[in-house]
Amino acid sequence: MIPAEYEQVLFCDGAIVSIHSTVLGPALGGVRFRPYPSEEAALQDVLRLSRAMTYKAAVAGLDYGGGKAVIVGDPHAADRRERLAAFARCVDSLGGRYLTAEDVGTTQADMDFVRTITPYVTGTSQGSGDPSPPTALGVFCAMTATAEALWGSADLAGRHVVVQGVGKVGRALVGHLLAAGCRVTVADVDPAATAVEGVEVVDPARAHAVPCDVFSPCALGGVLSPATIPELACAAVVGSANNQLADDACADRLAGRGVLYVPDYVANAGGIVNIAEEPDGYDRARAEAAVRRIHDTVLRVLAEADREGVTPLVAATRLAEERLRRRPTA
Ligand code: NAD
Repeated sequence: MIPAEYEQVLFCDGAIVSIHSTVLGPALGGVRFRPYPSEEAALQDVLRLSRAMTYKAAVAGLDYGGGKAVIVGDPHAADRRERLAAFARCVDSLGGRYLTAEDVGTTQADMDFVRTITPYVTGTSQGSGDPSPPTALGVFCAMTATAEALWGSADLAGRHVVVQGVGKVGRALVGHLLAAGCRVTVADVDPAATAVEGVEVVDPARAHAVPCDVFSPCALGGVLSPATIPELACAAVVGSANNQLADDACADRLAGRGVLYVPDYVANAGGIVNIAEEPDGYDRARAEAAVRRIHDTVLRVLAEADREGVTPLVAATRLAEERLRRRPTA
């Protein structure tokens, strides 16, 4: 059963495209290529992710809607090209209502290939490129805002940050943190990923429980759950992973533990903020300045939460919904 708030959900050739909203503009969101256990699991993932994209674009002040796609299957199988081509034709059939991008299991090279079939693709090598470095910069800026709100200074020097997942985003984030003078601890299920100079390494199953200033989930979703929240030993959670909360009630559990949670879709907007610079002729310096404004967006969300006596998740949701009511460029 697909809730009525979704504008369109298209099943085609083993892929699912979910368009949650085009109120603010074309639905923008990446495509995941994963071997889901069932079509139902893939559907639930794409629905939840596409809805978060609507809120992400709205809070970030972008004139884009929310969409997402999944290709169900092994991304390393021999038919990868054919699957991507079929997906690209599916995207093309939507005539620009949905704009795709890379995500877990897809790469910039894949987007270049998709571009040979449809123009409705972002983040190609001719456009804004890999969104991961701007996403990492945005998470870093969300952390400096968090530090300002919690400790009165945006300076992260001497702060201890635990990064869970040292992939495309996590690795770039670690670079920013080390450059800022942080003590950095990392964890990854792939031991090769943790081979970074100047960091400490912990067991990925225990990363969330390491005493630190900021815990940064940068792997997959669902890491903040009734099981893990009681074990957190951090002042704040600020990371890139999508859907960090097992469910929305976990935001209240975090507040109850005195942990400041910056909503994932606010902290990880750097990638789409960067992509949103494409239509005006992509300029790296202008895009970086736009990504750095995530610092101010986070401060606004935290101030609103304080003023209204609600969690940052509720505050961010209200800001997004207010903007959706006002429509584009308001
Ligand atoms: P990635 O696949 O490059 O990296 C993920 C890393 O997490 C890998 O090194 C993997 O081994 C590790 N990992 C997986 N399970 C783990 C676990 N249980 N514990 C510790 N490590 C684990 O992905 P990415 O592009 O870096 O994205 C990371 C997260 O950020 C994802 O949730 C993604 O949806 C989200 N995100 C990414 C972008 C982007 O621009 N890439 C933008 C917004 C959100």
